[in-house]
Amino acid sequence: MNKQPLRCRVQVILPIERPYDYLLPYGSDGIQVELEPGQVVMVPVGRRILPGVVWDGVADENVPLKKLKEIAEVSEVPTLREELRKFVEWVANYTLSPQGSVLKMALSVPQALENLVGQKLYRLVTDNPKEEGDADTGKPRLTSARQKVIDVITDSGGWTLADLAREAGVSSSVVKGLEKLGLIESYFDAPDFSFSVPKPDAVGPVLSPDQKAASDDLVSRVQDQAFSTVVLDGVTGSGKTEVYFEAIEAAIKEGRQALVLLPEIALSSQWLDRFKKRFGVAPAEWHSDLTPALRRKTWRAVAAGKAPVVVGARSALMLPYRDLGLIIVDEEHEGSFKQEDGVYYHARDMAVVRAKGCSCPIVLASATPALETMVNVQNGRYERLILPGRHGGAGMPDVELIDLRFDKPERLQSGPGWLSQALRGAIRQTLEAGEQAMLFLNRRGYAPLTLCRTCGHRLQCPHCTAWLVEHRRFRRLQCHHCGFSASLPENCPSCEAEDSLVPCGPGVERIVEEAKLLFPEANVALMASDTMTSPAATKAMVDRIQNREVNLLVGTQVVAKGYHFPFLTLVGVVDADLGLFGGDLRAAERTFQLLHQVAGRAGRAEHKGRVLLQTSDPKHPVMQTLKEGDRDKFLEIEAETRARGHLPPFGRLAAVIVSGPDESELDNFCASLARSIPQIDGAQILGPAPAPLALLRGKFRRRFLIMSKRTIAPQGIARSWLAQLKAPSRIKVIVDIDPYSF
Ligand code: ADP
Ligand code: ZN
Repeated sequence: MNKQPLRCRVQVILPIERPYDYLLPYGSDGIQVELEPGQVVMVPVGRRILPGVVWDGVADENVPLKKLKEIAEVSEVPTLREELRKFVEWVANYTLSPQGSVLKMALSVPQALENLVGQKLYRLVTDNPKEEGDADTGKPRLTSARQKVIDVITDSGGWTLADLAREAGVSSSVVKGLEKLGLIESYFDAPDFSFSVPKPDAVGPVLSPDQKAASDDLVSRVQDQAFSTVVLDGVTGSGKTEVYFEAIEAAIKEGRQALVLLPEIALSSQWLDRFKKRFGVAPAEWHSDLTPALRRKTWRAVAAGKAPVVVGARSALMLPYRDLGLIIVDEEHEGSFKQEDGVYYHARDMAVVRAKGCSCPIVLASATPALETMVNVQNGRYERLILPGRHGGAGMPDVELIDLRFDKPERLQSGPGWLSQALRGAIRQTLEAGEQAMLFLNRRGYAPLTLCRTCGHRLQCPHCTAWLVEHRRFRRLQCHHCGFSASLPENCPSCEAEDSLVPCGPGVERIVEEAKLLFPEANVALMASDTMTSPAATKAMVDRIQNREVNLLVGTQVVAKGYHFPFLTLVGVVDADLGLFGGDLRAAERTFQLLHQVAGRAGRAEHKGRVLLQTSDPKHPVMQTLKEGDRDKFLEIEAETRARGHLPPFGRLAAVIVSGPDESELDNFCASLARSIPQIDGAQILGPAPAPLALLRGKFRRRFLIMSKRTIAPQGIARSWLAQLKAPSRIKVIVDIDPYSF
């Protein structure tokens, strides 16, 4: 009887929608090796060999055999669980991304699979039918050197090359020769993240009654091992971190894994220190700065269930947890959870889906929950735990508005000034009291615009619709969108006038200059993403501030990220209106959240904090509610505005970005897209319009917006509309479901 060769489906990590069919590989006995869904394999695709995963479902028996290729290799990394496979499918479907692209994130290729994982070890091959042997006994003939190795090695393995050669008293080439013969084999061992139950002496602080109630609630959810979404709502300093640490401990005790998503893991040295203090050990970290070796190890440890706690950036959500028992999304409102490149996804929203798949609770912690999140609390989809006050009774800072139209900053000798009299006075007072002050401006560099006084020419990025930002420390101009950089020209590039280029507007470097001029006795320091180039540099700066070597700190939004500086009592916001320009959907919400968070840096210990906001629009609801300290009123106003415009979360939104290097080709294609816009009840497609950055990295960009009622999914609309037309090869179409900013 002629048995049909067995096939299976393999999802390859290319941007393709569906799995391909393959033949199961043949073992050395000539029999096909059975594989189960989730096994990681290497398969031929065209001329390449690529990683993929055996997928669920059966291969199509009607595909002629000669069209099928055989799986090239079966990887030893742990099998991807069904939960993760389903999650990959869900994310691909929701974000309209190719399943292979989502899987690629989960496999973290190339690093996770490269050389497999961990240390290369050797073990004996027990059932070896290799030919080259003794005709009578069937056993290979061995030299005495080789025999020594066979005598030493055990089939359970665990031998490194060096150990094995030393123990057997042979050279390492003898070991390699045996491997070639197929008598011993090498494999890669998962590293030991020996990290288990927290040490008994490493217990947390005594919790306040409110904290205790919240913590008990979370702990019992972890023990129940059921899905629920809980918003942990409390002002900065109310102890949210302490409370969710208790939940993490519970997950560890249950023998399950916990995942903590932080918006800026590279800036989280204080968080990591606290974790180590609390649990006596470091968590596994996951972010883009990991070395390839550490990435391999961590991926494998996570999959093997040997990393009980993982803390990471959004990509940590895609890891192959063996038994996830808790997800925490800290600062859940943060925009950096939205990935806008490759697969466009919001890690907070997808984390809720993953938690559901894992049947575990998820905690969304924030002092300023996103409007979406609060609406989900109101409609009962999410539950809420409230921590009402700052720990230890520290008060919330007083927020005062400085109206820049009346308190105009005075000129300095060197040019315009940016700090009002009121702010200058407050800084002086603070420094005299021996306390720390911070000036916040969310703009890197020295000046956001350089202008020619003679002809009005503005220095623009040649590849983007964006001005070049002067970075005086490097004497360079930089594009903050594509990274283009050029030295500052002596003469105007347009009219060639000499000494005619002037910096316009302030960036943080310029505020540092002003601060040093006004307060020559102060120790001024700058904290921005381009000065905090490594976690070590960040930590060094945080230490300097904590040790009070710095008393006047100037920073961009990196200073807003959850730091706790007990002697910082004054926060001055140089330009509170900055984020409100541009008409973005979330402009007001983002500004409120950021300023609220910045304000929260002031007065976290026994010293009361003071926050001064410089604004030209003091009547704006953002400024008013910040002043009143009334977050819920802000959310109410914001909800009304959004509901009126049928904007998220009251309606649904998807952006379609069409880009290409040739503007007329692009406009032609967009015109055909516009002509094929379907009529749909409860939804409309607007556009094309120039995208917010109409030129980015040398590509022209146009945008359509799909707006629909809550009950209508924009995915289906986008899919059927865009399927009608094939884009020319140089034109790229990206669908961004739930765009974060627009
Ligand atoms: P949040 O995460 O809400 O900003 P944290 O958990 O960081 O708040 O707490 C703020 C500060 O107060 C931290 O230094 C923390 O260690 C301290 N703290 C919070 N709760 C307690 C407590 N019950 N006992 C002692 N210190 C606490
Ligand atoms: Zn640019």
